[in-house]
Amino acid sequence: MANKEIPYKIYLEESEMPKYWYNLRADMINKPAPLLNPETRKPMTAEELSPVFCDALIQQELDETTPYFEIPEEILNFYKMYRPAPLVRAYCLEEKLQTPAKIYYKFEGNNTSGSHKLNSAIAQAYYAKKQGLTGVTTETGAGQWGTALSMACAYLGLDCKVYMVKVSYEQKPFRREVMRTYGASVTPSPSMETEVGKKILAEHPGTTGSLGCAISEAVEKATSMPGYRYVLGSVLNQVMLHQTVIGLETKTAMDKYGIKPDIIIGCAGGGSNLGGLIAPFMGEKIKGEADYRIVAVEPETCPSFTRGKYAYDYCDTGMICPLAKMYTLGSGFIPAGTHSGGLRFHGMNPILSQLYDDGLMEAVSVPQTEVFKAAEEFARVEGILPAPESSHAIKVAIDEALKCKETGEEKTILFGLTGTGYFDMMAYEKFHDGKMVDYTPTEEELQKGFSYLPKMD
Ligand SMILES: *Cc1c(COP(=O)(O)O)cnc(C)c1O
Repeated sequence: MANKEIPYKIYLEESEMPKYWYNLRADMINKPAPLLNPETRKPMTAEELSPVFCDALIQQELDETTPYFEIPEEILNFYKMYRPAPLVRAYCLEEKLQTPAKIYYKFEGNNTSGSHKLNSAIAQAYYAKKQGLTGVTTETGAGQWGTALSMACAYLGLDCKVYMVKVSYEQKPFRREVMRTYGASVTPSPSMETEVGKKILAEHPGTTGSLGCAISEAVEKATSMPGYRYVLGSVLNQVMLHQTVIGLETKTAMDKYGIKPDIIIGCAGGGSNLGGLIAPFMGEKIKGEADYRIVAVEPETCPSFTRGKYAYDYCDTGMICPLAKMYTLGSGFIPAGTHSGGLRFHGMNPILSQLYDDGLMEAVSVPQTEVFKAAEEFARVEGILPAPESSHAIKVAIDEALKCKETGEEKTILFGLTGTGYFDMMAYEKFHDGKMVDYTPTEEELQKGFSYLPKMD
């Protein structure tokens, strides 16, 4: 195996790293629907967004015509601390599965935050700093985003306030302490620190929280303190824009060796890693230059694409964020307390939602015990201990590779390995002890979630 033409790891030179982020919207025929002001129901203007978000990021959020945004040199330099990220040929997994398929994964876990989230954290912190702000507030679910943001803020000397979903705050003390090491303050959400937190606690006493609740608290805090803005680690178009560094590097690496993926697979929480990975490939697909099968993988417990509605909805439980048209389970949907932490969001990025609605990509949902089975199989042959979120993509990549084994097709499969799972060992423990259970939300639970959808006329 040592003499294969394609190396185990394809690394780019620093000089080959992307200098621009790619705004896929510029090439989309059906543009995603605009964000709406929840009160007027009219498209959000930059001015209306400015109390909440940083100015440069608002421009990126609203821009649907500029195809490329130059990556500022300071951000490029920060990227160089942990990028380019390797594109790995999973020779060992292929051999284990005895599949004729060729499997590649783009590994984003090679930094202390342990995930791709640092790619957007540094960009958002940079623009906040450049605007002369004192600090930023945010939410974090499993903790990866909060960790990434605290690293970026420490680097740039910004204050960082993190609202952490309570279930994660309690189950993941290590992440909490990593964030504090980087100087962030961390509050379990819902909390009594904000009006919206108090309201949620009154309505759902004993709730273990959700990303939506934590977002509401962080937004309220940012807008009530001068010199602070809110930043978000997923869902928004600007986040997907920053994450295109993943796809652009992957495309460059694959082009170097003449590799063309047949299937591209990514896990989908709010959609940022998947959107970032597929962007340059999807651009080609939209322009008719190439064809790819693109598959989003979501947890059975939080099936935004596969069982959600394509509708305008709030991004947060507190119903104070702008309305976004997306595949959603309703902002009041609180998923079962599973361990797919970072995939617990009720909605989905508006760009991906439009692409899915246009039939340009597919989605599947998978139960968590199968996800952990795949994670373990992968870890044992490829060495990397994957994050539970990333393992959703592994599960479907393995399924596709096994299909190739049956049909004898030599398909090329690419998936995003978004991060490492060192801080998720409680979930692995449950799995090993046979205590992990699967859960499919009932029709009734979904209907309850949909009942929170704003009535649009
Ligand atoms: C946050 C996270 C995800 C999901 O977020 P997306 O915005 O859907 O990419 C996936 N994997 C890891 C490791 C994460 O930390």
